[in-house]
Amino acid sequence: MFFQRQRIEIKTPGEIDAMRAAGLVVARALAEVSQIAANGVTTAELDECAADIIAEAGALPSFLGYHGFPAHICTSINSEVVHGIPGPSVLRDGDVVSVDCGAIVDGWHGDAAVTIAIGTVDPAIERLSEVTEGALWAGLAAARPDGRLSDIGHAVQTHVEAAGDFGIVEDYVGHGIGSSMHMDPPVPNYGRPGRGPRLVAGMALAVEPMVTLGAPMVHTLDDDWTVVTDDGSVAAHWEHTVAITDSGAWVLTALEDIRLP
Ligand code: MG
Ligand code: MG
Repeated sequence: MFFQRQRIEIKTPGEIDAMRAAGLVVARALAEVSQIAANGVTTAELDECAADIIAEAGALPSFLGYHGFPAHICTSINSEVVHGIPGPSVLRDGDVVSVDCGAIVDGWHGDAAVTIAIGTVDPAIERLSEVTEGALWAGLAAARPDGRLSDIGHAVQTHVEAAGDFGIVEDYVGHGIGSSMHMDPPVPNYGRPGRGPRLVAGMALAVEPMVTLGAPMVHTLDDDWTVVTDDGSVAAHWEHTVAITDSGAWVLTALEDIRLP
């Protein structure tokens, strides 16, 4: 069985605290990037902003140099889903840009993403982002001690499907996280509940629904990074890193101290 081969890293409470420190750096970087993202701003400027916050905190960027990735954040505009490379692209009124950021403190990683609306966006796109963020929180709420891993993806899928006709990207998934950014287990955004490993205190997971206004199929551009929808439909991406603790789920990449019962 697939899941029985996995070794899921179990963190001590002290290690979870270090992950919270990394998560707070990510939260601050994304908050600052969200503040400056506006009509006329380039994605390279967003990258500089995140780089400054990470450096000022004395943290390290998880993304820079990861398999050769050239920046501190991923910036994915409109039909770009994930892994877009910051550069000269100029944000325009009506765009959405998904920003994904990772930071390392004392060797421990935090990873989160937000979708930012630039100026006034089409109501359907605004709703897409709201539904995707809602699906993220539904997934986080399912990350309960003694629950099962697939409960998370089931909660994400159920939330999206109840909200209307959207595409749930299946080619990219959430993941375990801790001493590395991407670890076992994979955390899909769909599936039947009650399957996979039991969730126990000390596990940490990145939950990250990617949802489109059209079909779920995606492909990678010639830059070998940027993932776009096949049908050109707009996509949204929201992510948090969450730790399972004895008293529930601790959302490590939120600015506020959020613990779900
Ligand atoms: Mg991420
Ligand atoms: Mg991630």
